[in-house]
Amino acid sequence: MTGDFTVLRGGLLLDIGRQDSYPADILIEGDTIREIGAPGMAAPEGATVEDASGRLILPGLVNAHTHGHGALAKGLGDRWSLELLLNAAPWTGGGFTHEDKRIAARLNAAEMVLKGCTAAYDMFFEFPTATPEGIAAIGAGYRDVGMRAVIAPMMADIPFFRSIPGLMDLLPAPHRDRIAAMEAAPFDTHLAQCRRIVESWAFDLDAVRPALGPTIPLMCTDDFLRGCRDLARDHGLGIQMHLAESPVQAVSAARRYETTLAARLDALGLIDARFTAAHGVWLTDADMAMMAERGASVAHNPGSNLRLGSGIARVRAMRDAGLCVGIGTDGSGSSDNQNMFEAMRMAAFVSRVVTKPPETWFGTWEVLEMATAGSAQALGMGDAIGRIAPGYKADMVLLDLASVNYVPLNNPANQVVNCEDSSAVSAVMIGGRMVLRDRRFTGFDFDKLRADVAAAVARIQAANAGTRAEFEAVARFVSHHCVGLCPDAPNPQNPPLRHAPHAR
Ligand SMILES: [Zn+2]
Repeated sequence: MTGDFTVLRGGLLLDIGRQDSYPADILIEGDTIREIGAPGMAAPEGATVEDASGRLILPGLVNAHTHGHGALAKGLGDRWSLELLLNAAPWTGGGFTHEDKRIAARLNAAEMVLKGCTAAYDMFFEFPTATPEGIAAIGAGYRDVGMRAVIAPMMADIPFFRSIPGLMDLLPAPHRDRIAAMEAAPFDTHLAQCRRIVESWAFDLDAVRPALGPTIPLMCTDDFLRGCRDLARDHGLGIQMHLAESPVQAVSAARRYETTLAARLDALGLIDARFTAAHGVWLTDADMAMMAERGASVAHNPGSNLRLGSGIARVRAMRDAGLCVGIGTDGSGSSDNQNMFEAMRMAAFVSRVVTKPPETWFGTWEVLEMATAGSAQALGMGDAIGRIAPGYKADMVLLDLASVNYVPLNNPANQVVNCEDSSAVSAVMIGGRMVLRDRRFTGFDFDKLRADVAAAVARIQAANAGTRAEFEAVARFVSHHCVGLCPDAPNPQNPPLRHAPHAR
């Protein structure tokens, strides 16, 4: 790519590192930023000039936690706790062909790019286990759009109904018999498939890379988690898990392990600098200190945590402990969009109900830093993306300053976080290539994707109708049991773990 220069001229740069904004030109060589200079700076002869006048330039937002399969499930649920979402998972996320997976990944990526996001950590679900063909289709979906992704197959070797103490036993027969017969794939099958996925990887690792997603600690055996740990070490892979997401999980962990979920994972050797915990709503202070010591990251998903009633993560305490925190949307099955501007605003706003002194709330610069450099570190790409600086990949978003969101332009950082709804996104560059220009995709046909999505959803929903009826019939048992497990939660000031009647 040497000699392939582009220069962005006339834009207003949002410099998150310096907490400032100023006019600047940006020189790009191939996929990499080479120089940031004053307006009119010299550029190599023949460089392509991109006019950025009237645009605010910020680093591409990085989504630290999503689920590509959820793109086809947006709007399916409403008053669902996390456990009701998991109860619905067989019909909202099951029955996909490999082509459906590619369509879902493409749709997820398309929404993120339209909303200013250039890279994501995607825990994609394949049932009963991940496959090289399926993961290749998902990777191709991201590549079609031109977006970066870390793809972690979402896996479990304990079924959801066996993961919550007492839940299976209270289901009325014959539901219990049918649901009990639905076993999860054994751990050695998951691990063998993941090994095949990694060894047959065909994507450029800068663009789409593999990771591991043993989904929820309560749904994974010790043998499975040890296997994931070893596979990750052997191949340098990241691991992402949903950790301490709901109060039900925190209480269930106390009963099953007599320790916290994070402490159990640490005892198994999983928590290190390649480990990302999604949510972490119910982490204790000791969990946070241990995870910071190990160099792990947390993906904070305030929208999903609110929608599912999971609670409000104590992110200021995480940051004070030294933990790296990124921001995510979670999947559209739970939140129900892929809007990182909204996720940033929610992260800022929910911080105001956790701690009282306003100086401990998250301000806009800190939220911007978490949604860019913080999330990039969570993806394991902290030295390549998340900043507009020489040597970093040219992943940038151009916001139209003629948008009503910037009239008047009083304070760019405050307005990106507190005013922006993604409607001002005019162009998105990823790796030096404009993948969105004038709000139109340059690499694929969105109208064709809409038609593909409609056809896939109609077929999947018809095929899953019987499964849907089966799980909807037991939803109220799941709901009542889980409420009974932790009746006084959620309250982030009083984690149920500290006073659960059965915790020892
Ligand atoms: Zn999730």
